[in-house]
Amino acid sequence: MLELKHIKKYYHVGDTITKALDDVSVSFRQQEFVAILGPSGSGKTTLLNMIGGLDRYDSGDLIIEGKSTKTFKDADWDAYRNNSIGFIFQSYNIIGHLSILDNVEMGMTLSGVPKAEKQQRAEDALTRVGLAEHMHKRPNQLSGGQMQRVAIARAIANDPEILLADEPTGALDSVTSEEIMQLIKDLSKERLVIMVTHNPSLAKEYADRIINFADGKIQDDSAPYDEHEADDHFTLKRTKMSFWTALKLSFTNIKTKKGRTFLTMFASSIGIISVAIVLALSTGFQTQIDKTEGETLAQYPITIARQGQDTSQQPEQQKGFSKSDRVTAKTSASDKAQHLNKIDQNYLNYLNGLDKKLAKNISYTYATGLNLVRDINGQYKPVKFSNSNPENTGADPSAMMATLGVGGSVYPVDRYGKQSYLKTNYKVLSGSYPTAATDVVLIVNRDNTLNINSLKNLGFKVKENQKYNYKDLVGQTIKVVANNDYYQQVPTGNFIPKTDYNDMANAKDTKTLKIAGVLRVKSKKSDGMLASGIAYSDRLSSAVIDQNQNSAIVNAQKNSDTNVMTNETLTSSSKKTVLAYLGGDKIPAAIQIYPNNFDDKDKILTYLKKYNKDKSKADKIIYTDLAGTVSSLTGGLMSAITYVLVAFAGISLVTSMIMIAIITYTSVLERTKEIGVLKALGARKKDITRVFDAETVILGVGAGILGVLIAWLATFPINLILENITGLANVSHLNPIHGVILIIISTILTVLGGHIPARMAAKKDAAIALRTE
Ligand code: ADP
Ligand code: MG
Repeated sequence: MLELKHIKKYYHVGDTITKALDDVSVSFRQQEFVAILGPSGSGKTTLLNMIGGLDRYDSGDLIIEGKSTKTFKDADWDAYRNNSIGFIFQSYNIIGHLSILDNVEMGMTLSGVPKAEKQQRAEDALTRVGLAEHMHKRPNQLSGGQMQRVAIARAIANDPEILLADEPTGALDSVTSEEIMQLIKDLSKERLVIMVTHNPSLAKEYADRIINFADGKIQDDSAPYDEHEADDHFTLKRTKMSFWTALKLSFTNIKTKKGRTFLTMFASSIGIISVAIVLALSTGFQTQIDKTEGETLAQYPITIARQGQDTSQQPEQQKGFSKSDRVTAKTSASDKAQHLNKIDQNYLNYLNGLDKKLAKNISYTYATGLNLVRDINGQYKPVKFSNSNPENTGADPSAMMATLGVGGSVYPVDRYGKQSYLKTNYKVLSGSYPTAATDVVLIVNRDNTLNINSLKNLGFKVKENQKYNYKDLVGQTIKVVANNDYYQQVPTGNFIPKTDYNDMANAKDTKTLKIAGVLRVKSKKSDGMLASGIAYSDRLSSAVIDQNQNSAIVNAQKNSDTNVMTNETLTSSSKKTVLAYLGGDKIPAAIQIYPNNFDDKDKILTYLKKYNKDKSKADKIIYTDLAGTVSSLTGGLMSAITYVLVAFAGISLVTSMIMIAIITYTSVLERTKEIGVLKALGARKKDITRVFDAETVILGVGAGILGVLIAWLATFPINLILENITGLANVSHLNPIHGVILIIISTILTVLGGHIPARMAAKKDAAIALRTE
């Protein structure tokens, strides 16, 4: 059955060598009760550990059922302990945080016996040792004798061929000792039992064979046996602990020290809490900044007008009095700064190449006039989109054209064809957002006032403070008349507007505009770009230009250096203005670009500057950055602050990781005995690592969840305080994705921190582990 051949085991401590086993050769029968007697320190425990595969011999050979163990790997020894060996110790070595049943099942758990069978066999074993009634107690509710019975049940549950008992009655009173001996005697009927004892009378009373041991050598043997060389018919079933078993083991262990575990989790969650709060605040601030920036930029877009201001020109220096007796002609600094932007199709194409993501909205302001008529009490009359006082504009029509332009505001239409600008910045009070190019909207101030002139110019008879229901405004229509229907040429060759407005309204080329809705700015802080009054899209202007650019009046004006309506002489510049007013110019007078935020604005400006590279001074196109003058808290500063804070929070994260490592390490020290027991039952190194890894996983997940939960709860008081101080609501906002990521990070960090102590635990020598008290 079992044969030891010249087994030696020497311990080297410093210069002294302890010969724990000094050339031991002995054989055991398939079934017998062997008692090993000997003084303390004679090597009895070492011998048992050697036979049980808990310790390795230095030289010699251990032959199990004809198989040499010289070539055994760790896994073979683990399986051998699990399948063939049952250990009983003097100090019972019951795992305190597991139930009695779990303790007895542990060996079978390690070898993966199905649950039902495992439980049945454990119950049978407990019944066999006389504990049928105590099976559901906790280990600490048992007496010493009962504990040793549990240990015996655990040793025989897997039905091993060899039972090894190291002074099993050493800690028991004499009556209980007799009972335990009787039990072991019964068990020896079915297997080989090797028991170490220093009680010769017990040995004589119960054992079949007594071996006296001293100084690592067998002194005498009452029934020696010679093993006949048997064939190798030895097979092993490998052990393997599932991660779930490991988790369960750690979980029950953690449950026994709830308070400490909670404190550990809390302490390690502090890192997570700080990172989570920093993230929540910075996300919130970033959202606020983006919102404010977006609102600011909605009011102060980048503007490229025909008439640009070259801000790179130095302002005039203050000078002392001149001593000269003559005067010098000089261009003023402000005139020098004037720059005529030659906006052309080329430049428009360049703008189209601007990344759509940087600026969804670009609006083009055309100087084209709109020939508008509106039905006023059954009669069509000329009207206009303008906020200027109609009583003051009688004088000079061309001056009027130049100064007032067309009136009304132009709202940008998204470059994807959507109304994102209006939808982001304006709220519909009545009606709807515009959809067609012929939809116009009425913009009102925050207090729902509307410039009275805008209504007067549309032909409303209106008094100061008069109130309108939305339905009196929304749905109203206005007609845009084509030049050819609006103007007629008189015999002198001049063009004058016709007067039959009803005819105009019904002409084939006339378009019908509709007031789609009444809109109001959303922001509490900024007024938005659009003035109160009518706003229409640049798509309407371009449609009108397309219709009019080849009209009779435009063609006539193109070929004349005087104004075809007033006969006034025109300079090339004022001719341009008149032509543009009549719809003869497809190039916009001004372009507004609405960036999403300041970062995007900087990128857009870089793009605009790139156009001017290698261009002569006159050909450069100068933009006005209205928002540039508005002081801005940039996102850059915010992210810098965030980085610093996250770095600090990260330090606390690392601190908590180190703490987890320390805690796992103490847990390893505390559970040394348990590690030894698990190994005696056949657990592999991997399994031990798993048990501790599982523990850190539980701690890490727990700490992560706790940390995120606390951080989330903290956002409420933080928001309350911030709202009191800054007036900003809901600044702190923990992104759920950040929460999940933090839990994962916490788990990974704790597992990393705990893994090294876990590996140390796995490497612990089982024999030494079991010797520690
Ligand atoms: P017994 O069980 O008969 O009392 P042991 O087998 O425990 O004796 O010990 C035999 C000898 O080996 C003792 O002298 C003991 O000090 C020594 N010994 C046991 N384990 C170690 C170890 N890990 N390192 C050094 N010496 C050891
Ligand atoms: Mg001993």
